[in-house]
Amino acid sequence: MTVPAHHPAPELLLDYAAGSLREVQSLLIAAHLAYCPDCRAQVAELEACGGVLLADLPPEPVSDSLFGTLMTRLDATAAAPPPVPTPVGKSLFPGPLRRVIGAEPEALEWVRVVPGIHLSAWGVSAGTASACLLRMAPGSRVPAHRHTDSEMLLVMKGGFSDEFGAYRVGDVASYDTGTPHHAVADADGECLCLLVQDQPLVFTGLLGWLLNRGFRF
Ligand SMILES: [Zn+2]
Repeated sequence: MTVPAHHPAPELLLDYAAGSLREVQSLLIAAHLAYCPDCRAQVAELEACGGVLLADLPPEPVSDSLFGTLMTRLDATAAAPPPVPTPVGKSLFPGPLRRVIGAEPEALEWVRVVPGIHLSAWGVSAGTASACLLRMAPGSRVPAHRHTDSEMLLVMKGGFSDEFGAYRVGDVASYDTGTPHHAVADADGECLCLLVQDQPLVFTGLLGWLLNRGFRF
């Protein structure tokens, strides 16, 4: 497997390591880490730095019951799934995503947006952020759209290109608010991505006018 060339923004890795990144974005970062040894190393380093900072804090007086409460919480944490993603196995999805989705792409329901472009009926959302899967047939184009907030795509199969670069398995494409872009799937195979958005997409052009009003083709 080749090493990803496009990574999440450093501040996202920092927030992820600090445990302060929002849930939906964390899912994409965790999935990217399964592909990317560079970002895994960075997150491990940041987590170690966080531990050192905590260790340097001056001791505070605590109540007698705190130790018991803390041990109970640690036990609960130990019983939770491991935060470090498992390597990509036979499943198409990296470990963190496989656990959340619980099925392979063929077993999922898909909603056609335009010919060749499908979104999964499966999705998760928290606050204003949401995630679902984007499936592009070989050579298909996502209609031009701009964003009212950020968008991130993680490629899990195949690849696509836009004005900003070419993205392959493990790569993360990030788009800021108001950035129009035109994704085109590679011609040699289907492309499957995890799509994370913070607000609904706003499509541009006549086709976009129809899509924004709920039309599907
Ligand atoms: Zn990376």
